[in-house]
Amino acid sequence: MRLADKIVLITGSGSGIGRSSALLFAKEGAFVVVNDLNADKGNETVEEINALGGRASFVYADVTDPDSVQSMVSETLAAHGRIDVLFNNAGISGVGALHEVEPDDWDRVIRVNIRGVYLPSKYVLPHMMERASGTIINMSSCIAEMGLANRASYAATKGAVLALTKSMQVDYAKYNIRVNALLPGTIMTPFVENYLRTSYEDPEAAIASLKSRQLSNELGRPEDVAKAALFLASDESSFMMGSPLYIDGGVVFGKNA
Ligand code: NAD
Repeated sequence: MRLADKIVLITGSGSGIGRSSALLFAKEGAFVVVNDLNADKGNETVEEINALGGRASFVYADVTDPDSVQSMVSETLAAHGRIDVLFNNAGISGVGALHEVEPDDWDRVIRVNIRGVYLPSKYVLPHMMERASGTIINMSSCIAEMGLANRASYAATKGAVLALTKSMQVDYAKYNIRVNALLPGTIMTPFVENYLRTSYEDPEAAIASLKSRQLSNELGRPEDVAKAALFLASDESSFMMGSPLYIDGGVVFGKNA
């Protein structure tokens, strides 16, 4: 049990990588507090965990809304007395080259993907500081390290999350709090399926093109990222601080040509 009796809060865990991580963390002994904007999907994650004999509960919050996030954190603390791991996973996609992105769409992506990391961290950190213990995992993306076509708003947010992670680590190391970032490549989740549908006329050709930029023959699976998240959440990664962890099939450091 790599997370025995840890209390873990995962934002956006009603789907994709968040759900997969919630299932794996629960299997490794954590009590998982599942958060999502979509209560039905969040509750489905909890039911899946319970059906496998794990422990979990759902707490609604929109990670962009301070009141909602504060209630989520205080409800969790009231129920469990502590939060050992905060996984800031919730995020949305943004497509288009910069001149094509409408201001409202730009703001929406920035709001969810950056404010959605800032707010849960802001309200969980004082409690972790008081206990002088805790781990935060921030969801960035390999797009933070490379140029990709038509993802201007999304790239801006994931670069910001990586920079924020390093800065947070410096501020909170003295409280024995670790802050690291995940940088996945293309992982087949509802998020990517939606991106493929909205950005390409031929999704099969799009999948082939996504594969062609990586070294692996397969696109990533949510479980691949969940395993990396488990490592960052556990004490096994105790010497990792302010670091990016790549799960990308060789996109960033490989060259498939
Ligand atoms: P997903 O769409 O399957 O899941 C994201 C979840 O976040 C959804 O359940 C959604 O309801 C929830 N959510 C969205 N806005 C929210 C809000 N304001 N408050 C609370 N919950 C909210 O997506 P996914 O592919 O599992 O992505 C999870 C994270 O991983 C995102 O931050 C994404 O940017 C990042 N990521 C994904 C990939 C990929 O290829 N799938 C690659 C790199 C990074």
